[in-house]
Amino acid sequence: MLFLTNPLKKVFGTKNDRELRRLAPVVDEVNALESKMRALSDEELASCTPRFREQLDDGASLDEILPEAFAVVREASARTLGMRPFDVQVIGGIVLHEGKIAEMKTGEGKTLAATMPVYLNALPGRGVHVVTVNDYLARRDAEWMGAIYKFLGLSVGVILNHLNDRERQLAYGSDVTYGTNNEFGFDYLRDNMKFRREDCVQRELFYAIVDEVDSILIDEARTPLIISGPVEYSIKDYEKLRAPVASLFQRQQKQASQFIGQARKLLGEDREYEAGEMLLRAHRAAPKHPEVLEVLEDGRMRKLLKEAEQDYSLAKRMPEVDESLCYVVEERERNVYPTERGKDIIARNDQGFFVLPELEVETERINQDPSLAPEEKAKKRQQVRAEYEMKLTRNHAINQLLKAFALFGKDVDYVVKDGQILIVDEFTGRLLPGRRYSDGLHQALEAKEGVKVAQENQTLATVTFQNYFRMYEKLAGMTGTADTEAPEFAKIYKLDVVVIPTNKKMIRKDYSDVIYKTEREKFKAVVEEIQELDRMGRPVLVGTVSIEKSERLSKMLIKQGIKHSVLNAKNHEKEAEIVARAGQRGSVTISTNMAGRGTDIVLGPGVVEMGGLHIIGTERHEARRIDNQLRGRSGRQGDPGSSRFYLSLEDDLMRIFAADRIAGLMERVGMEEDEPIEHGLISKAIENAQKRVEAQNFNVRKQLLEYDDVMNQQREMIYEQRLQALEDDLQPVILDMIEDMVAELVDTHCDEEAAAEEWNLRALEDAFFSQFSIAVSLKGAEDEHLTREGLREFLLEKANRAYADKEKEWGPQITRDLERMVTLQTVDHFWREHLLAMDQIKEGIGLRSYAQVNPLIEYKREGLAVFQEMVDRIKREAIRMFFRVQVARKEAEELEAAQEQQPVYLSHGGGAEGAKPQPTKRASKVGRNEPCPCGSGKKYKKCCGR
Ligand code: ADP
Ligand code: MG
Repeated sequence: MLFLTNPLKKVFGTKNDRELRRLAPVVDEVNALESKMRALSDEELASCTPRFREQLDDGASLDEILPEAFAVVREASARTLGMRPFDVQVIGGIVLHEGKIAEMKTGEGKTLAATMPVYLNALPGRGVHVVTVNDYLARRDAEWMGAIYKFLGLSVGVILNHLNDRERQLAYGSDVTYGTNNEFGFDYLRDNMKFRREDCVQRELFYAIVDEVDSILIDEARTPLIISGPVEYSIKDYEKLRAPVASLFQRQQKQASQFIGQARKLLGEDREYEAGEMLLRAHRAAPKHPEVLEVLEDGRMRKLLKEAEQDYSLAKRMPEVDESLCYVVEERERNVYPTERGKDIIARNDQGFFVLPELEVETERINQDPSLAPEEKAKKRQQVRAEYEMKLTRNHAINQLLKAFALFGKDVDYVVKDGQILIVDEFTGRLLPGRRYSDGLHQALEAKEGVKVAQENQTLATVTFQNYFRMYEKLAGMTGTADTEAPEFAKIYKLDVVVIPTNKKMIRKDYSDVIYKTEREKFKAVVEEIQELDRMGRPVLVGTVSIEKSERLSKMLIKQGIKHSVLNAKNHEKEAEIVARAGQRGSVTISTNMAGRGTDIVLGPGVVEMGGLHIIGTERHEARRIDNQLRGRSGRQGDPGSSRFYLSLEDDLMRIFAADRIAGLMERVGMEEDEPIEHGLISKAIENAQKRVEAQNFNVRKQLLEYDDVMNQQREMIYEQRLQALEDDLQPVILDMIEDMVAELVDTHCDEEAAAEEWNLRALEDAFFSQFSIAVSLKGAEDEHLTREGLREFLLEKANRAYADKEKEWGPQITRDLERMVTLQTVDHFWREHLLAMDQIKEGIGLRSYAQVNPLIEYKREGLAVFQEMVDRIKREAIRMFFRVQVARKEAEELEAAQEQQPVYLSHGGGAEGAKPQPTKRASKVGRNEPCPCGSGKKYKKCCGR
C-alpha cells in the first residue's frame, strides 16, 4: 500500500510501522468484500445486522466478523452519506476496535472512521458510547452518522444537557449513544444517588470511543466532576474577610513596588546581589504586580532574582524574606498563605483568632473534669468542636481570598458578567457558565469582585474523568494530537497510540518561531502580517491564549480597519459556524486556542492558489500538543497551508519556565533592540521548556490518580452495595445488622475480663434504648441472663420481636420500602461526610509529609480506617432510624420527597489544586485488636496499624 512506503523509515521500521503492517491484511479483506456489498440491495445490506447478531449468538467473535461488518458500514456510508471510508479510515476503525488511540490529523474524517467500530461493537446489544467535547458536536455527529446506523437497523440516541431522566433512559437504551464527557460522568454520579433502580438512566459501561481524547483524558483528567448540595455556614466568612484581605493585598502591592524601587537603586550602586534580594522579596510578595512583571523583562534582573532565590532556598533562608511580608505567593506552585505578620494584622487584637483548639487534648480534659455533669461534658465537647470547625473554615476562607487576589486575574482566569463570576477554560479560552471552582475559591472570587457570594456547597458525589473512563470494559480514543502524550496514555489508561497516515500527503509549511523582546512588539508584528495577507485576500486564523489577548488583538485590527471575527466564549453558539467560514477568501478569524474544535475548515474558491489557510500562533502553550492542534487547523486533506508562531520574552511560558536559557541564547546569537529573532536553537529551547512542563504536569496527574485510586476503590464498593440495595430484598441484611448491633452493645458494656457485678447494666439499657428505641429493664435480670451470651440472647429476642411487630403493623411492602429507604439514606449521608473526611486527611497529610512519612501510604492507612468507621456508622444509624420510624406511610413519602427536592449543583473542581494544606481532624482509629480494615484478615495492630 502506498502510504506504507516511507523511504526514510524503511531501513529500521518503527513500532508504528509494524503496527500498520500488521493491520494491512485486514484492510485488504475489507477491500476484497467491497464488490460483493455493492451488489446487495438496500434491504439485503440492512439484513446483515440480524445475521451478524445470530453469528455472535452462535459463538462467533467480534474479531471474526470485523472485515464483513466494516465492509457493510463502508457500503452503507457510501449509500447514505455519499462518503466511502478511505483505507486509512478503515485502519483507524480497526485501531479503535482494538481499544487503542488512533491519531488521525484534523480533517481526516475521524467521525466517519468511528462508525465502523461503533457498528461492530453495538452488535452484541450492550450499548456503545461515543464521547464528544461539547453538546454541539454530540448532536451533529449523532444526526450525521445516525443515517448509517439507522440504515443498518441500529438505534441511535444523544444525551443533551436539557434532557430529563426518561429521555436519557431512552438515549442510553439505544444501540449507540452520543454525548459529552460531562453528561456521561454526571449521569453516572446521579445514578448512584437514585432511590429506585428504575430511575437510573445508564446501562453498563461497555465500550466507549472518546473523540478528541487528549482533551478529555489529559487536559481534563485532573478536574473532578462534582455533584454538590448547599451547606449553611461560611458565606459570611467570605463577605466579612474581604475587606481585611483586600487591604492586606493593597498594602503588599505597595510594598512590592517599594522593593522594586530599592532594587533599581541598589543596582545603580552596583550592589547586584542585594538588588537580587530585593527582587526576590518583590516576587514573593506580588509576582503578578505590573512593576514586577516589567522589571523582570530584563534578562539580567531575572538572573539576579534566580540567583537570590536559589541561594535562599538552599540555605533555607526563605523565612527571612517572608518575615517582611504579610503573605507569601508561590507562583509556580499556585500557593498563597499568610505570614505571622499578616495573621497579626487580620486578627487585630484577637490573639486566638488563628489558633485551633487541640481537639484530642481538650476533649480529654473535659472528660476528666470531675466537676462536670455528663450533659455538661457533652455540651462542652460540642462547643470545642464547633470552635474548631469555625476556625478551620475561616482560615480556609482567608487562604482562598488571598489566592483570589494574588493569583487570579480578571478577564484572564475569569470574567465578571451579570453579577456572576464565569470561569475561563484554561485550554480553550471558553467561558464555562454554570461551572464553579470548588473548595471556596469561587466564593472568594465573588467576594473579591463584590458580587453576591453564592452558597458554599458540600460534595455529594465526585469522580474524575480518569476514573470514570477507566470503568469501561473497553476504551478507545481518537484525536489529531496524541503522540506527544503517548507515554501517559500507556501508563495511566493502558491505551496504545497508533499514528495513522494521512489519506493525502500533508503539505502545510510550518515556519520556525519568531521571538520579540516585548509583547507589544510581538503583537505589532502579528498585525502587520495579518494586514499583508488580508490585502491579498488570503484567509488567516490567529490563535490566542486568552480572551483578554483576543480582545487586545481585535482592538488593534479595528484600528487598522481590518475586518475580522473574534471567536471566544462570548459567542459560543456561533463558534462552529464562524470557524467553518475561516477558510474563505478574505476571512480573518481570531480564536482562543481550541475554540471550535471539531469543525471542518473547508477552503473557499481561489484560496488554494493563494497558499491556503495561514495560521498565526501568538504564544506557545505549556503543552506542544495544544500548539499542534492550532497548526492542524490548516493543511487538511492535502490542502496547502502554512503556520507560524510569534513569541515574546514576556509570555508566561518564557517568563516562568524558560527565561534564563532563552535569554542566554539570545545574547549568544546577538539580539538587537526592537529586532525579532528567528533561530533553530531558540525553537529547540522552547520545545525543551515545553517538554519539561509536560513532564511536570504528567507527574501531577499521576499523583492525583494514585490518591484518587484509594477513593475510587471505596466509591466502587459503596456504589456496588448501593446498587444491591436498590435491587435486592434487604430484610436479611437488616436482620443481620440487628444481630451485629446487639452483640456490639453487649461487648462494649460488659467487659469480658470483669466480673458480672461490675458491668454497668444501666448504661447498657440506655444504649439499647438509643439504638433500638426499646426500653428494657435488666435490673431484675435472671441469673442466666448475667452472662454475655445470655444478655445477647435476651436483647436480640427483644429487638427481633420489635422488628416483627413493626412488620405486622406496616405490612411487608412498606417494611421492605422502609428498609431500602433508610439504608440508602444513611449510606448517602455518611458517604458524603466521608468524602469530606477524605479531603481533610489528604490536606493534613500534606503537612505531615515533612515528617518523613510517605504521604500516600499514610493516606491509604487513614483512608481505610475512616472508611471502616463509616461502614460501622452506617449500620448503627440505619438500624436506629428504622426503629424510630413511627408513621410508616407518611415518613416513607417524606423521605422520598426530601430526596427529590434537594438542590444539587454540578461542577468541575480545580480550585483545590495546589491549595495550601490545612490542619485537619485526626481520623479516628481502628481498635488495635480489631481485624484490619485493609481486609488482610490479620489484626489491625499486626498489619496496617503497626
Ligand atoms: P476530523 O474529526 O478527523 O477532524 P471530520 O470527521 O470532521 O474530521 O471530517 C472532516 C471532513 O472530511 C468532513 O467534511 C467529512 O465530510 C469529510 N470526509 C470524511 N471522510 C470522508 C470520506 N471518506 N470521503 C469524503 N469525505 C470525507
Ligand atoms: Mg472531529
